[in-house]
Amino acid sequence: MKKIKFHNSNDQLIIEKIVCVGRNYADHAKELGNEIPTDFPIIFLKPASNVIFSGQSVIHPSYSNNLHHETELVLLIGKTLKDASNLQQAEDAIWGYAVGLDMTLRDLQNQARDKGDPWTISKCFDTAAVLSDFVQKKDHLLTGKEMISLKVNGKIRQNCALDKMIFSPAELVKYISSIMTLEKGDLIFTGTPAGVSKVVKGDKLEAEISGIGKIMTEIA
Ligand code: ZN
Repeated sequence: MKKIKFHNSNDQLIIEKIVCVGRNYADHAKELGNEIPTDFPIIFLKPASNVIFSGQSVIHPSYSNNLHHETELVLLIGKTLKDASNLQQAEDAIWGYAVGLDMTLRDLQNQARDKGDPWTISKCFDTAAVLSDFVQKKDHLLTGKEMISLKVNGKIRQNCALDKMIFSPAELVKYISSIMTLEKGDLIFTGTPAGVSKVVKGDKLEAEISGIGKIMTEIA
């Protein structure tokens, strides 16, 4: 079992399911040659056992030649929510925020996409979810002006304002709650902006959302 790490608090909370959102920034959908979703977000799952934290290493699976970083705002759900009837109810279920890396095996994901297979092996390997500490909403209210960024070996690869998301955090939570019950300890990875790229063994990654958190990790 993996536990949430809080910035500024010793609260204990076990990580439950992890729901991830695909193609939530138009520029990123375009760079991968995908359609931009208009009606509903694309969602998939990661197991909590995939999680590692800032300071730990991402283990590059031997069966892929194209490991990509996806830097994302992560939402922490603080209470049970099913079929949210409005955006305020969805917003009220969000307890806090972190920066996360949704590590992705792009070669295997493309093969799965072409064959119509699930994305599981490209998204759900050990160390495929990297988390910073969580900031509670009472300590940081999201404005959308926060910058989400990623450096690889000191060079900027991703850099974007959070308000460039297609579906807002509350819209995502409302939609996901119409499909499956959200519970305290669930996480939502909200999608990545443009600039995803291949990383290799030895690369040092630094992911940050201004005012929220930072991840330092290395590919091993
Ligand atoms: Zn992602």
